[in-house]
Amino acid sequence: MKLVLATGNAGKVRELSAQLAASGVSVLAQSDFLTEEAVEDGLSFVENALIKARHAAVASGLPAVADDSGLRVDALDGAPGVFSARYAGAGAADADNCRKLLAALEGVPVAQRGAAFHCSLVFVRSAVDPAPLIVSAEWRGLVMQGMSGEHGFGYDPLFQPAGLDCSAAELAPEEKQRISHRARALQSFLPKLVDLVGL
Ligand code: IMP
Repeated sequence: MKLVLATGNAGKVRELSAQLAASGVSVLAQSDFLTEEAVEDGLSFVENALIKARHAAVASGLPAVADDSGLRVDALDGAPGVFSARYAGAGAADADNCRKLLAALEGVPVAQRGAAFHCSLVFVRSAVDPAPLIVSAEWRGLVMQGMSGEHGFGYDPLFQPAGLDCSAAELAPEEKQRISHRARALQSFLPKLVDLVGL
């Protein structure tokens, strides 16, 4: 079976391809089909993942998988949420988004700095699939008072995963890949996908 992965991120294509290859699925990159990016104007991670999956299914005529993720901060009513990538403005750099988050939480004590990375994964058999497979997972932690660590991307330098004494950017990349919101979502998604398509 062939499916399209609706992401521009080569790392995600590599990661998912490797995990699916063993089940006989070949994952194609959406860059082979898409001329325009999907407009991610959903209010939730699930809606945006669905928009991206349908967009890739239309362009390719193949089943598609998409993911959408971001950081939800308790004290900010879930912001930056679906706006995580563009919190400090369209095309904002990771460091700008982190600085904006630190400013928004200035003076907020550690006990109220709870947050979670969220990941939603969606599979559609076609662009008009009435029953998409949807799986979501979270990785809880807190927003630190300053940035530390050089690995990862996005808000990793500010995110201290629950039960750990360091930021996500201080974890070895393989360790983060093993325990993150994406890893958790993928872990419950893959067996369901295999069940669904009868591999
Ligand atoms: P996307 O799912 O790749 O579109 O990610 C949306 C945005 O959420 C990213 O640009 C980051 O700002 C943030 N984000 C998602 N996952 C992570 C993560 O694992 N670490 C840090 N930031 C993340």
